[in-house]
Amino acid sequence: MEQTQFLQRQDLQSLVDVLIAEGYRVLGPQVRDAAIVYDELADVSHLPVGVHDQQSPGQYHLNRSQSQRSFAWANGSQALKPLLFTAREVLWRAERDAEGKINFVQAQAALQKTAVIGVRSCDLAAMRIQDQVFLEQQYQDENYRARREGLFTVAVNCSHPAETCFCASTGDGPTAKSGYDLLLTELDEGFLVTAGSEAGKQIFIQLPLELASDQQHFAAGEQALHAEQVQIRKLPQAGLADKLLANLDHPRWREVAERCLSCGNCTMVCPTCFCHKEVEQPQLDGQTTEHLREWDSCFTQGHSYIHGTVIREDTEKRYRQWLTHKLATWLQQFGNSGCVGCGRCISWCPAAIDLTEEAAAIVGGENG
Ligand code: SF4
Ligand code: SF4
Repeated sequence: MEQTQFLQRQDLQSLVDVLIAEGYRVLGPQVRDAAIVYDELADVSHLPVGVHDQQSPGQYHLNRSQSQRSFAWANGSQALKPLLFTAREVLWRAERDAEGKINFVQAQAALQKTAVIGVRSCDLAAMRIQDQVFLEQQYQDENYRARREGLFTVAVNCSHPAETCFCASTGDGPTAKSGYDLLLTELDEGFLVTAGSEAGKQIFIQLPLELASDQQHFAAGEQALHAEQVQIRKLPQAGLADKLLANLDHPRWREVAERCLSCGNCTMVCPTCFCHKEVEQPQLDGQTTEHLREWDSCFTQGHSYIHGTVIREDTEKRYRQWLTHKLATWLQQFGNSGCVGCGRCISWCPAAIDLTEEAAAIVGGENG
């Protein structure tokens, strides 16, 4: 059996039906509050059919056309991150028993099979980075592992990158090379479908697939090339990390800090950011307490608070920390860049700050 076959557009519902029959909770992209987000999906008519996005620094808008395509848009604010590294979760609870003894109970995430339709290549790359953080260090996160093991990804090759995308320059897109269970390439008349794992093959063999024609393969190749060529942003490449770290006193850090609101939006939407804090939530009756982990941001004052001192007391230092960690010290820490070129931090920054522009301003070179 060929690994890539063709699914007629009118048969897309079979993908959702097979996944549900196999016990998956299915999530798919849908329009909510004027943005495309992942939500429960049982009926493919709820996909964003004919919806397109317009993104630029500080801007995200949707519009509609008569197109029958369901995936002719680039990523919204969500990635896979909130599904795997949840924004807020209980790590352990303490309870006082009848004798007054305090018992500690670890909170464990239940393994739930979840299939996500519409995952993009940059988000697969970001998931790989978060796997490094949560599963491949000295201590492993069991809750992340449970959610990761239950995840089934139906990736979609990007055909319409946003103006803010630059995954081609980071090498993370716009087509998915690995890391998916199933991969869709949307064409006008339907989808090329490729299985990328054993779990993916189990779904693949249940779909009403046909042999894909040479013309369809050619159209997919042309579409991929076009999606790469239309990207207008890029990260400066040569010696980026070393140059950033050699320019910690560059005046541009102060200039960008005059615009940056230290709101942390960029870190919330970034699919690779993993900073978090831990907080206690005791009940007023004094009998129980919960210890929670919440997303944090290097833009908050508390994030650099150590022994009575805030190490990064102003926005200049916080922005510098964000950019140099993403693009320079991440390599020392994990062996790769912390940026997959998804462009979210550009679109969702209320001050329209563009990290490709900031990086180019500091190290020299072009960002487009
Ligand atoms: S760069 Fe933009 S999104 Fe990030 S903290 Fe500053 S203002 Fe907020
Ligand atoms: S730094 Fe910005 S462009 Fe890079 S992965 Fe994070 S959100 Fe995406």
